[in-house]
Amino acid sequence: MRSFHYRRPADVAEAVALLGADPEAAYLAGGTNLVDLMKLGVQRPDLLVDVTRLPLGGIEPLPGGGLRIGATVRNSSLAAHPVVRRDYPVLSRALLAAASGQLRNMATTGGNLMQRTRCVYFQDTGKACNKREPGTGCAARHGQNRDLAILDWSEQCVATHPSDLAVALAALDAVVEVAEAGGTRDVPVAEFYRSPGEHPERETTLPRGALITAVRLPPLPAARRSAYLKVRDRASFAFAVGSVAAVLDLDAGVVRDVRLAYGAVAHRPWRALRAEAELRGRPFTPELAGRAADAELEAARPLSHNAFKVPLVRAITVRALTELAGVEA
Ligand code: SF4
Repeated sequence: MRSFHYRRPADVAEAVALLGADPEAAYLAGGTNLVDLMKLGVQRPDLLVDVTRLPLGGIEPLPGGGLRIGATVRNSSLAAHPVVRRDYPVLSRALLAAASGQLRNMATTGGNLMQRTRCVYFQDTGKACNKREPGTGCAARHGQNRDLAILDWSEQCVATHPSDLAVALAALDAVVEVAEAGGTRDVPVAEFYRSPGEHPERETTLPRGALITAVRLPPLPAARRSAYLKVRDRASFAFAVGSVAAVLDLDAGVVRDVRLAYGAVAHRPWRALRAEAELRGRPFTPELAGRAADAELEAARPLSHNAFKVPLVRAITVRALTELAGVEA
Protein backbone atom coordinates (compact mmCIF):
# COMPACT_ATOMS: atom_id res chain seq x y z
CA MET A 1 0.00 0.00 0.00
CA ARG A 2 1.25 3.51 -0.78
CA SER A 3 2.12 5.43 2.37
CA PHE A 4 -0.17 8.37 3.15
CA HIS A 5 -0.66 11.28 5.51
CA TYR A 6 -3.53 11.40 7.95
CA ARG A 7 -5.48 14.47 9.13
CA ARG A 8 -8.38 14.87 11.49
CA PRO A 9 -10.14 18.17 10.64
CA ALA A 10 -11.78 20.27 13.35
CA ASP A 11 -14.90 20.98 11.33
CA VAL A 12 -16.60 20.45 7.97
CA ALA A 13 -15.07 23.60 6.45
CA GLU A 14 -11.57 22.40 7.24
CA ALA A 15 -12.32 18.96 5.81
CA VAL A 16 -13.55 20.45 2.54
CA ALA A 17 -10.55 22.81 2.39
CA LEU A 18 -8.11 19.91 2.90
CA LEU A 19 -9.64 17.95 0.03
CA GLY A 20 -9.75 21.05 -2.15
CA ALA A 21 -6.04 21.68 -1.61
CA ASP A 22 -4.87 18.17 -2.52
CA PRO A 23 -6.12 16.41 -5.69
CA GLU A 24 -4.90 13.07 -4.31
CA ALA A 25 -6.61 13.30 -0.92
CA ALA A 26 -9.63 11.21 0.08
CA TYR A 27 -12.16 11.28 2.90
CA LEU A 28 -11.99 8.43 5.38
CA ALA A 29 -15.14 7.38 7.22
CA GLY A 30 -15.73 3.71 8.11
CA GLY A 31 -13.01 2.66 5.68
CA THR A 32 -14.81 -0.59 4.84
CA ASN A 33 -14.40 -0.05 1.09
CA LEU A 34 -11.61 2.52 0.76
CA VAL A 35 -9.05 0.62 2.84
CA ASP A 36 -9.63 -2.57 0.80
CA LEU A 37 -9.12 -0.60 -2.42
CA MET A 38 -5.96 0.97 -1.03
CA LYS A 39 -4.56 -2.47 -0.19
CA LEU A 40 -5.32 -3.57 -3.75
CA GLY A 41 -3.64 -0.48 -5.18
CA VAL A 42 -6.88 0.58 -6.88
CA GLN A 43 -7.06 3.81 -4.89
CA ARG A 44 -3.80 5.48 -3.87
CA PRO A 45 -4.57 8.63 -1.85
CA ASP A 46 -1.62 10.55 -0.42
CA LEU A 47 -3.76 12.05 2.35
CA LEU A 48 -6.69 10.63 4.31
CA VAL A 49 -9.02 13.19 5.88
CA ASP A 50 -10.78 11.40 8.71
CA VAL A 51 -14.34 12.72 9.04
CA THR A 52 -15.52 10.30 11.72
CA ARG A 53 -14.96 12.80 14.59
CA LEU A 54 -17.01 15.56 12.93
CA PRO A 55 -20.42 16.21 14.52
CA LEU A 56 -22.33 14.35 11.79
CA GLY A 57 -23.51 11.35 13.80
CA GLY A 58 -27.08 12.27 14.77
CA ILE A 59 -30.51 11.05 13.68
CA GLU A 60 -33.11 13.78 14.20
CA PRO A 61 -36.80 14.15 13.37
CA LEU A 62 -37.51 17.07 11.06
CA PRO A 63 -40.06 19.75 12.04
CA GLY A 64 -42.48 19.00 9.20
CA GLY A 65 -42.01 15.25 9.45
CA GLY A 66 -39.28 13.05 8.06
CA LEU A 67 -35.83 12.33 9.37
CA ARG A 68 -32.34 13.81 9.07
CA ILE A 69 -29.56 11.24 9.21
CA GLY A 70 -25.99 12.42 9.81
CA ALA A 71 -23.39 11.23 7.33
CA THR A 72 -21.34 9.35 9.92
CA VAL A 73 -24.26 7.41 11.42
CA ARG A 74 -23.21 3.78 11.28
CA ASN A 75 -25.31 1.42 9.17
CA SER A 76 -26.14 -0.79 12.16
CA SER A 77 -27.36 2.19 14.24
CA LEU A 78 -29.53 3.42 11.38
CA ALA A 79 -31.04 -0.02 10.76
CA ALA A 80 -31.93 -0.36 14.46
CA HIS A 81 -33.35 3.15 14.94
CA PRO A 82 -36.98 2.81 16.15
CA VAL A 83 -38.34 5.55 13.85
CA VAL A 84 -36.59 4.05 10.83
CA ARG A 85 -37.94 0.60 11.65
CA ARG A 86 -41.48 1.95 12.11
CA ASP A 87 -41.73 4.61 9.38
CA TYR A 88 -39.21 3.43 6.77
CA PRO A 89 -38.88 -0.37 7.09
CA VAL A 90 -37.53 -0.54 3.53
CA LEU A 91 -34.47 1.35 4.72
CA SER A 92 -33.88 -0.81 7.76
CA ARG A 93 -34.26 -3.98 5.70
CA ALA A 94 -31.95 -2.77 2.96
CA LEU A 95 -29.27 -2.04 5.55
CA LEU A 96 -29.69 -5.38 7.27
CA ALA A 97 -29.45 -7.15 3.91
CA ALA A 98 -26.07 -5.51 3.32
CA ALA A 99 -22.67 -6.84 4.35
CA SER A 100 -22.03 -8.49 7.72
CA GLY A 101 -22.75 -7.28 11.24
CA GLN A 102 -19.11 -6.29 11.73
CA LEU A 103 -19.07 -4.26 8.52
CA ARG A 104 -22.39 -2.58 9.33
CA ASN A 105 -20.93 -1.53 12.69
CA MET A 106 -18.19 0.37 10.86
CA ALA A 107 -19.80 1.52 7.59
CA THR A 108 -21.36 4.99 7.58
CA THR A 109 -24.34 6.51 5.79
CA GLY A 110 -22.20 8.80 3.62
CA GLY A 111 -19.57 6.18 2.94
CA ASN A 112 -22.17 3.65 1.91
CA LEU A 113 -23.43 6.03 -0.79
CA MET A 114 -19.89 6.63 -2.04
CA GLN A 115 -18.74 3.01 -2.25
CA ARG A 116 -17.23 1.83 -5.51
CA THR A 117 -18.42 -0.90 -7.86
CA ARG A 118 -17.57 -4.53 -7.10
CA CYS A 119 -16.78 -5.26 -10.76
CA VAL A 120 -13.89 -7.74 -10.45
CA TYR A 121 -11.89 -6.03 -13.18
CA PHE A 122 -12.10 -2.70 -11.38
CA GLN A 123 -10.42 -4.34 -8.40
CA ASP A 124 -7.68 -5.97 -10.50
CA THR A 125 -5.01 -3.46 -11.47
CA GLY A 126 -3.74 -5.85 -14.16
CA LYS A 127 -6.96 -5.59 -16.19
CA ALA A 128 -8.36 -2.93 -18.53
CA CYS A 129 -10.85 -0.74 -16.74
CA ASN A 130 -12.07 2.68 -17.85
CA LYS A 131 -13.40 3.42 -14.40
CA ARG A 132 -10.06 2.81 -12.66
CA GLU A 133 -7.91 4.11 -15.50
CA PRO A 134 -9.81 6.13 -18.13
CA GLY A 135 -9.08 5.16 -21.72
CA THR A 136 -7.81 1.64 -21.03
CA GLY A 137 -10.98 -0.22 -22.08
CA CYS A 138 -13.57 -2.36 -20.32
CA ALA A 139 -12.57 -5.97 -19.66
CA ALA A 140 -16.05 -6.75 -18.38
CA ARG A 141 -17.90 -5.76 -21.56
CA HIS A 142 -17.15 -9.17 -23.13
CA GLY A 143 -15.74 -10.84 -20.03
CA GLN A 144 -17.18 -11.97 -16.69
CA ASN A 145 -20.22 -9.73 -16.61
CA ARG A 146 -22.76 -11.95 -14.85
CA ASP A 147 -23.17 -9.58 -11.92
CA LEU A 148 -23.15 -6.37 -13.94
CA ALA A 149 -25.67 -4.05 -15.59
CA ILE A 150 -28.68 -4.74 -17.77
CA LEU A 151 -29.88 -1.13 -17.97
CA ASP A 152 -28.27 2.15 -19.02
CA TRP A 153 -24.73 0.83 -19.51
CA SER A 154 -22.30 2.22 -22.05
CA GLU A 155 -19.58 0.64 -24.17
CA GLN A 156 -17.13 2.27 -21.75
CA CYS A 157 -18.52 0.63 -18.60
CA VAL A 158 -21.14 -1.97 -17.65
CA ALA A 159 -20.65 -1.79 -13.89
CA THR A 160 -23.38 -1.68 -11.25
CA HIS A 161 -23.57 0.34 -8.08
CA PRO A 162 -23.24 -1.94 -5.06
CA SER A 163 -25.16 -0.04 -2.36
CA ASP A 164 -28.40 -1.47 -0.93
CA LEU A 165 -28.95 1.69 1.11
CA ALA A 166 -28.93 3.86 -2.02
CA VAL A 167 -31.68 1.75 -3.59
CA ALA A 168 -33.95 2.27 -0.59
CA LEU A 169 -33.14 6.00 -0.55
CA ALA A 170 -34.00 6.25 -4.26
CA ALA A 171 -37.42 4.72 -3.58
CA LEU A 172 -37.97 7.14 -0.69
CA ASP A 173 -37.01 10.28 -2.67
CA ALA A 174 -34.31 11.10 -0.13
CA VAL A 175 -32.15 14.21 -0.38
CA VAL A 176 -28.39 14.29 0.21
CA GLU A 177 -26.94 17.33 1.99
CA VAL A 178 -23.51 18.21 0.65
CA ALA A 179 -20.82 20.66 1.80
CA GLU A 180 -18.60 22.18 -0.87
CA ALA A 181 -16.05 24.97 -1.07
CA GLY A 182 -18.80 27.46 -1.96
CA GLY A 183 -21.25 26.41 0.78
CA THR A 184 -23.86 23.70 1.21
CA ARG A 185 -26.60 22.40 -1.05
CA ASP A 186 -29.20 19.65 -1.37
CA VAL A 187 -28.93 16.96 -4.01
CA PRO A 188 -31.92 14.63 -4.52
CA VAL A 189 -30.78 10.99 -4.70
CA ALA A 190 -32.35 10.90 -8.17
CA GLU A 191 -29.70 13.44 -9.28
CA PHE A 192 -26.82 12.20 -7.15
CA TYR A 193 -25.51 9.35 -9.35
CA ARG A 194 -24.41 9.41 -13.00
CA SER A 195 -24.90 7.03 -15.87
CA PRO A 196 -21.50 5.72 -17.06
CA GLY A 197 -21.57 7.28 -20.54
CA GLU A 198 -18.11 8.34 -21.77
CA HIS A 199 -16.83 8.97 -18.25
CA PRO A 200 -17.47 6.00 -15.94
CA GLU A 201 -14.73 7.26 -13.63
CA ARG A 202 -17.23 9.93 -12.52
CA GLU A 203 -19.81 8.15 -10.43
CA THR A 204 -21.68 11.01 -8.84
CA THR A 205 -22.62 14.54 -9.84
CA LEU A 206 -20.64 15.96 -6.90
CA PRO A 207 -17.61 18.13 -7.59
CA ARG A 208 -14.25 16.96 -6.25
CA GLY A 209 -13.89 17.60 -2.54
CA ALA A 210 -17.63 17.70 -1.78
CA LEU A 211 -18.50 16.08 1.54
CA ILE A 212 -21.82 14.43 2.33
CA THR A 213 -23.00 15.80 5.66
CA ALA A 214 -26.47 14.26 5.98
CA VAL A 215 -29.33 12.50 4.23
CA ARG A 216 -32.92 13.69 4.64
CA LEU A 217 -35.92 11.41 4.38
CA PRO A 218 -39.15 13.21 3.46
CA PRO A 219 -42.31 12.43 5.40
CA LEU A 220 -43.91 9.51 3.56
CA PRO A 221 -46.68 7.76 5.52
CA ALA A 222 -47.02 5.19 2.72
CA ALA A 223 -43.49 4.00 3.49
CA ARG A 224 -44.76 2.23 6.61
CA ARG A 225 -45.81 -0.41 4.10
CA SER A 226 -42.50 -0.96 2.38
CA ALA A 227 -40.05 -3.76 1.75
CA TYR A 228 -36.61 -4.59 0.40
CA LEU A 229 -36.01 -7.86 -1.41
CA LYS A 230 -32.48 -8.86 -2.34
CA VAL A 231 -31.25 -11.88 -4.27
CA ARG A 232 -27.62 -12.81 -3.63
CA ASP A 233 -25.40 -15.81 -4.17
CA ARG A 234 -24.74 -16.40 -0.48
CA ALA A 235 -27.30 -15.96 2.29
CA SER A 236 -24.73 -14.94 4.95
CA PHE A 237 -23.49 -11.85 3.14
CA ALA A 238 -22.95 -10.88 -0.47
CA PHE A 239 -23.64 -8.04 -2.85
CA ALA A 240 -26.94 -8.16 -4.69
CA VAL A 241 -27.44 -10.00 -7.95
CA GLY A 242 -30.71 -8.09 -8.09
CA SER A 243 -32.78 -6.21 -5.54
CA VAL A 244 -35.94 -4.16 -5.26
CA ALA A 245 -37.07 -1.49 -2.81
CA ALA A 246 -40.85 -1.10 -2.80
CA VAL A 247 -43.40 1.19 -1.16
CA LEU A 248 -47.07 0.43 -1.78
CA ASP A 249 -50.12 2.43 -0.77
CA LEU A 250 -53.48 0.84 -1.57
CA ASP A 251 -56.92 2.39 -1.25
CA ALA A 252 -59.61 -0.29 -1.32
CA GLY A 253 -57.31 -2.45 -3.42
CA VAL A 254 -56.41 0.32 -5.87
CA VAL A 255 -52.83 1.56 -6.07
CA ARG A 256 -52.90 5.10 -4.69
CA ASP A 257 -49.12 5.46 -4.57
CA VAL A 258 -46.15 3.23 -5.31
CA ARG A 259 -42.37 3.67 -5.28
CA LEU A 260 -40.03 1.14 -6.84
CA ALA A 261 -36.26 1.13 -7.19
CA TYR A 262 -33.93 -1.62 -8.40
CA GLY A 263 -30.42 -2.45 -7.31
CA ALA A 264 -27.60 -4.27 -9.13
CA VAL A 265 -29.04 -3.54 -12.57
CA ALA A 266 -27.34 -0.25 -13.48
CA HIS A 267 -24.52 2.17 -12.71
CA ARG A 268 -26.85 3.89 -10.26
CA PRO A 269 -29.85 2.88 -8.15
CA TRP A 270 -32.59 2.49 -10.71
CA ARG A 271 -35.90 4.21 -9.99
CA ALA A 272 -38.55 2.22 -11.87
CA LEU A 273 -40.75 5.12 -12.96
CA ARG A 274 -42.34 3.27 -15.89
CA ALA A 275 -43.40 0.44 -13.60
CA GLU A 276 -44.80 2.93 -11.12
CA ALA A 277 -46.85 4.65 -13.85
CA GLU A 278 -48.25 1.29 -14.93
CA LEU A 279 -49.36 0.49 -11.38
CA ARG A 280 -50.73 3.82 -10.17
CA GLY A 281 -54.52 4.14 -10.16
CA ARG A 282 -55.20 0.50 -11.04
CA PRO A 283 -56.63 -2.32 -8.91
CA PHE A 284 -53.63 -4.25 -7.63
CA THR A 285 -53.13 -7.81 -8.82
CA PRO A 286 -49.95 -9.89 -9.14
CA GLU A 287 -50.53 -9.86 -12.91
CA LEU A 288 -50.50 -6.05 -12.90
CA ALA A 289 -47.23 -6.12 -10.94
CA GLY A 290 -45.74 -8.39 -13.59
CA ARG A 291 -46.90 -6.11 -16.40
CA ALA A 292 -45.41 -3.13 -14.56
CA ALA A 293 -42.04 -4.87 -14.26
CA ASP A 294 -42.21 -5.79 -17.95
CA ALA A 295 -42.81 -2.13 -18.84
CA GLU A 296 -39.70 -1.13 -16.89
CA LEU A 297 -37.52 -3.96 -18.17
CA GLU A 298 -38.42 -3.38 -21.81
CA ALA A 299 -35.34 -1.14 -21.91
CA ALA A 300 -33.04 -3.89 -20.57
CA ARG A 301 -30.01 -4.82 -22.68
CA PRO A 302 -28.52 -7.88 -21.00
CA LEU A 303 -24.82 -8.64 -21.41
CA SER A 304 -23.42 -12.01 -22.49
CA HIS A 305 -23.77 -13.61 -19.03
CA ASN A 306 -26.63 -11.87 -17.28
CA ALA A 307 -29.86 -12.27 -19.26
CA PHE A 308 -31.21 -14.14 -16.22
CA LYS A 309 -31.45 -10.82 -14.39
CA VAL A 310 -34.49 -9.75 -16.42
CA PRO A 311 -36.81 -12.52 -15.18
CA LEU A 312 -35.18 -12.35 -11.75
CA VAL A 313 -35.98 -8.65 -11.32
CA ARG A 314 -39.48 -9.24 -12.66
CA ALA A 315 -40.02 -12.03 -10.12
CA ILE A 316 -38.82 -10.02 -7.12
CA THR A 317 -40.94 -7.05 -8.20
CA VAL A 318 -44.06 -9.23 -8.24
CA ARG A 319 -43.13 -10.88 -4.96
CA ALA A 320 -42.34 -7.67 -3.09
CA LEU A 321 -45.50 -5.90 -4.23
CA THR A 322 -47.70 -8.94 -3.73
CA GLU A 323 -46.45 -9.39 -0.16
CA LEU A 324 -47.00 -5.70 0.58
CA ALA A 325 -50.52 -5.91 -0.86
CA GLY A 326 -51.22 -8.98 1.27
CA VAL A 327 -52.65 -10.96 -1.63
CA GLU A 328 -51.81 -14.41 -2.94
CA ALA A 329 -49.46 -14.56 -5.92
FE1 SF4 B 1 -14.10 -1.15 -15.35
FE2 SF4 B 1 -16.68 -0.57 -15.57
FE3 SF4 B 1 -15.57 -2.18 -17.32
FE4 SF4 B 1 -15.84 -3.01 -14.79
S1 SF4 B 1 -17.49 -2.56 -16.19
S2 SF4 B 1 -14.05 -3.24 -16.12
S3 SF4 B 1 -15.63 -1.08 -13.71
S4 SF4 B 1 -15.03 -0.04 -17.02
